[in-house]
Formats: sequence, C-alpha cells, structure tokens
Amino acid sequence: MSSSGLCGICGRAGAQHTCDRCGALVCGRHYEASVGLCVECAGEVGGGGPSGSGDDRPDDADTYRY
Ligand SMILES: [Zn+2]
Ligand SMILES: [Zn+2]
Repeated sequence: MSSSGLCGICGRAGAQHTCDRCGALVCGRHYEASVGLCVECAGEVGGGGPSGSGDDRPDDADTYRY
C-alpha cells in the first residue's frame, strides 16, 4: 500500500489514517486520533446525541420562585 492517499473528506493527498468505523482514509486534519475515527464518525458517535441524556437540566431552570 502506498504511504499517501486521498483524504475521503477533503480529497487532498497525504491521508495516512484509516477510520476504525467506516474505514475511510483521511488526512490528519480529519482524523480524531483520540477515538480512532474520522471526524464525521467521531461527530456521530462522540457528539452530544439525543441518547443517553436523562438528567440534563438547563441552568436557567435553577431559579427558585416563591
Ligand atoms: Zn482531509
Ligand atoms: Zn469514519
């Protein structure tokens, strides 16, 4: 395999990272090394999705009125 490829997101040459989820070849700018995913997958998986949030209450509702 060549050491350089085209980024699946921006299309530029020099992509060296492979997304662990979708398998896309991406460059360093579009690869989240902390999660091992491309930025698109990282945004879907790690982003603040609607699931898993049971106790999030807005700070604005913290005012007590008598
Ligand atoms: Zn890129
Ligand atoms: Zn991906």
